[in-house]
Amino acid sequence: MIDSMMIDSTVEQEATSTLVAAQSVIADTTPVFDADLIRKLNQLGPRYTSYPTADRFTESFQISDYEMTVENLRKQPRHLPLSLYIHIPFCASICYYCGCNKVITKDRSKSEIYLDYLKKEIAMQSALYTGMKKVEQLHFGGGTPTYINDEQMSELLDTLHQHFEFASDEVGEYSIEIDPRTVTPERIRTLRKQGFNRVSLGIQDFNPEVQKAVNRIQPEAETLSVMQAARDAGFRSISVDLIYGLPKQTVETISQTLDQVISANPDRIAIYNYAHLPHIFKPQRRIEVSELPDPESKLQMLYLCIQKLTKAGYVYIGMDHFAKPTDDLCLAQQQGRLQRNFQGYSTHAQTEMVSCGVSAISAVGNCYTQNEKTLEEYYARLDRNALPIARGYFLSEDDMMRRDLIGQLMCHFELDYRILNTEYGIDFKTYFAKELKQLESMVEFGLLSLHPDVLKVSLKGRLLIRNICMVFDAYLGKKEEPLRYSKTI
Ligand code: SF4
Repeated sequence: MIDSMMIDSTVEQEATSTLVAAQSVIADTTPVFDADLIRKLNQLGPRYTSYPTADRFTESFQISDYEMTVENLRKQPRHLPLSLYIHIPFCASICYYCGCNKVITKDRSKSEIYLDYLKKEIAMQSALYTGMKKVEQLHFGGGTPTYINDEQMSELLDTLHQHFEFASDEVGEYSIEIDPRTVTPERIRTLRKQGFNRVSLGIQDFNPEVQKAVNRIQPEAETLSVMQAARDAGFRSISVDLIYGLPKQTVETISQTLDQVISANPDRIAIYNYAHLPHIFKPQRRIEVSELPDPESKLQMLYLCIQKLTKAGYVYIGMDHFAKPTDDLCLAQQQGRLQRNFQGYSTHAQTEMVSCGVSAISAVGNCYTQNEKTLEEYYARLDRNALPIARGYFLSEDDMMRRDLIGQLMCHFELDYRILNTEYGIDFKTYFAKELKQLESMVEFGLLSLHPDVLKVSLKGRLLIRNICMVFDAYLGKKEEPLRYSKTI
């Protein structure tokens, strides 16, 4: 009796201290919402999923440049593990807000042809990486990766396993984006058996009127049953994507959606700000501009998201991401291994990112490459037995340093000058004298503080982190073109 009481009290104490630790992480990271300052500083800016941003890639970059880069990496005594990205571009119907590279078709034979070419590309890429084929991360994105059926998925995964060496399920992060409209609970169980251990579900908004306005009808019950199936199947992390700023959305509707999502208890929640850029993304032309919430309502929505999610126990990671204190994403941030890449935030820093599929972007060594953006051009390159790379970019020493710097700020809200001094043989304060001067007004606004060796972003500055990073972007302002970027909030 006494023993069981002691066990109960120990368990209780452990639970209490875990809760206290979680509450303190949330309190230390929750951004301070200063509406006036956001109104004042909100501007167009990159999301920094890469630096330099993809619009700097050029067609003068040659496939041989990429092959030489990989060859040089192969000659190194130590190799970083690989992170593979596989792009499946097909979707059965169009969501009007979409800004992705996708192909809308109900003709399933198109995916058969695509998969044959994709497998050819995978084989060609893998041949370059002899001796450095260890994979720690795999991400399937789209489009809709679950557009392809179980059998096609199995065959594609077999091809990947034939060509690369995957880390165990405990070590590796193997994720897939899921459109809940395309899967059954049984399909979810199959995906887990096929080796995926993390899922990300597109929800956007549960409100039926909003769903109608963006042409994405997705009943709540259907989505919840997919989430439950993922939990039962033993997925390590379940993440959901929401969007604020969609047509017909109001503070009330988004509040309701947030309540529904919170009660479904996902491990991660990403809430993206809808950027209406119809001159770039054609499907957005079908959105009624008069139905879009005004900037003030969007600000209130953002405030509400932060309030509700942090109160519900989610930690603000950065940009649009929230995660439970026990989730890998949060732990990676606390342990300094969080990374920003083309999929947003990632738990595995220090990998070479090799991407396959139409329009896919790789980040390997000191270069970025991007594949052809249309199926016709992608197939044509592969028919000529060439990698389907259309453009790319070599990072200079200055680019690499600024990439590290911006990555540190986006992931950890702090910058230790001494690390860059040692890594790049510079004197930070001399090298970045102009930028430090520019930051002075942000110091006055309370967005950050400058210490002898460290720059610290304040809780107020976290929501405006893109503005701070933009100061270190050597390319901004060199060309007239901010229209392709979204607002920083
Ligand atoms: S939002 Fe996703 S599912 Fe909808 S059209 Fe775009 S890629 Fe396809």
